[in-house]
Amino acid sequence: MRALITGGAGFIGSHLCERLLEKGYEVDVIDNLSTGRKKNITHLLSNDKFEFFQTTIMNEWVLEDLINQSDVVYHLAAAVGVKLIIDKPVETIETNIRGTENVLKYANKARTKVLIASSSEVYGKLPHDILNESDDRQYGPTTAHRWSYAASKAIDEFLALAYHKEYNLPVIIARLFNTVGPRQVERYGMVLPNFVKQALKNEPITIYGDGKQSRSFTYVGDCVNVLMGLMESEEAPGQVFNIGNSIEITIEELAQRVKELSESKSDLKYIPYEEAYESGFEDMQRRCPDNSKIEKLLGYKPSISLDELIKITIDYHRELMTK
Ligand code: UDP
Repeated sequence: MRALITGGAGFIGSHLCERLLEKGYEVDVIDNLSTGRKKNITHLLSNDKFEFFQTTIMNEWVLEDLINQSDVVYHLAAAVGVKLIIDKPVETIETNIRGTENVLKYANKARTKVLIASSSEVYGKLPHDILNESDDRQYGPTTAHRWSYAASKAIDEFLALAYHKEYNLPVIIARLFNTVGPRQVERYGMVLPNFVKQALKNEPITIYGDGKQSRSFTYVGDCVNVLMGLMESEEAPGQVFNIGNSIEITIEELAQRVKELSESKSDLKYIPYEEAYESGFEDMQRRCPDNSKIEKLLGYKPSISLDELIKITIDYHRELMTK
């Protein structure tokens, strides 16, 4: 079996490459290294079953060729990270919509099964309960750039489901919730690596807003196992699945846990949203998945606790800082 991973040099993509190679797949990666990093996959380059193509998914010639020789496509290439989305809204919208259009077009031509990595951001700012795949979505105005990411991912989902409906293309949609672990960098604003780096340097840990907003964090290893399970499932095509962890923590508590577990001397510093992002920025107060669908289909259970996850992240960044 041969798998193509778009965005395979990224944080999640590189873990997926490793697991697929372990399972005996041949793996091709297409990545323009915009947010992905060559060093995430350097250790794989000598493997005969692995090939890396440094180009964008807008390069239709290469994309079509790679899809034609694949049995399955994991489409992970996207503009990610709230900070990047605020700073580069044009790139976000174009990469996410056109890139997915290209992947679906050529996958349909070759009749290749595709998994589209979507995002919990698609739910928007629903004020209520845990988030179920069939819930409504709620976004702010188009003047608040953050929502362009949610809207672009929602269009990707619509298009993928349309290909399934109209052409019977086997397409699976995975809505990833806050995924963390080794190789995730702080540069694009993600909270856990940011807090861990700040704590290890004994710098102030920057909590945006009042810190009462909560998130649930998924270990990248669990996320990758579910992605592969979904791809292998005969029931999954044409459906949307949450991939997350139901254990919640407020951002303020997260800062405290990071400080304690890293034995840091950092202070906690509260920063207004307009200073951290831009004026009019809207945050989600709560973002917690209903995981019952993947539990039922794949018997999924998170493999490690939040403290273990924080410790793994601390160990990773500590080692990086001593290099
Ligand atoms: N956040 C924070 N400090 C940081 C980075 C992020 O308080 O240095 C907050 C952010 O405002 C959000 C949460 O942490 O409420 C998660 O942010 P992230 O960008 O990791 O993911 P999101 O869930 O917003 O997509």
